[in-house]
Amino acid sequence: MESIVFATSNPNKIKEVNELIGQIFHIIGLKEIGCAEDIPETQPTIEGNALQKAQYVLDNYQSDCFAEDTGLEVEALNGEPGVYSARYAGPQRNSQDNMDLLLQKLEGNDNRMARFKTVVALVLEGEVHTFEGIINGRIGLEPQGEGGFGYDPLFYPEGHDITFAEMDAAAKNAISHRGRAIRKLVDFLLARGDQPAT
Ligand code: IMP
Repeated sequence: MESIVFATSNPNKIKEVNELIGQIFHIIGLKEIGCAEDIPETQPTIEGNALQKAQYVLDNYQSDCFAEDTGLEVEALNGEPGVYSARYAGPQRNSQDNMDLLLQKLEGNDNRMARFKTVVALVLEGEVHTFEGIINGRIGLEPQGEGGFGYDPLFYPEGHDITFAEMDAAAKNAISHRGRAIRKLVDFLLARGDQPAT
C-alpha cells in the first residue's frame, strides 16, 4: 500500500481522513516523521494556510505530504470566521467559545446561510496541487449533537435537518467539505498511478 504523510496534528482530522482513505493509502502522521512542533498557519487565506503547512513539512522534514485547512464562512458575517475559524474567540482555540461567539454575532439575524470550505494542498515530487471541497448549509440557533468536532453542532448541511454533530462519521464524510476535497486528492493520486493495495 502506498504511504502518504498527512501534515496535521489534529486527531479529529486524522480520524476522518483515515475513515475516508485508510483502505487505499497508509496515512503517516507528523509524529512518525519526527515533527512535534506546531506548524505555522499565518496566511490570510485558507488556501494559503494549507500550502504553508505542506511546504513547511517539505522544507523542514524533506517529506512529500498533504495538508489541509478548513474554515466556516457565514454569509451574514461577510465570510467570518473564515480563515480565523480556529481562533475566532481567542488564542485558546476553544470550540465551545467559538460557537458561543458565532451565536452571539448572529443573534436576531434571520440569514443563517453558511458554508464549510476545505483546501487540501499536496506537495509531491516538486509540484504543488490543491483540491477544494465545499458544503453549503445553515447555522442553527443552538448546538445539537455530540459527534464530530469544532462547529459541527451548529451546522445543518443543505438538505438535512440534523447537524453534522448528529450524523455518524460515515454520513458526515459522504457529504462534507473535507470528504469532497479528500476524494479529489485520492482521484488525483490514483490517476497518476498510486494504486490501491490488492
Ligand atoms: P483548522 O483547519 O484546523 O485551522 O480548523 C479551523 C477551525 O474550524 C477549527 O476551529 C476547527 O475546529 C473547525 N473545523 C475544521 N473542520 C471542521 C469540521 O469538519 N467541522 C466543524 N468544524 C471544523
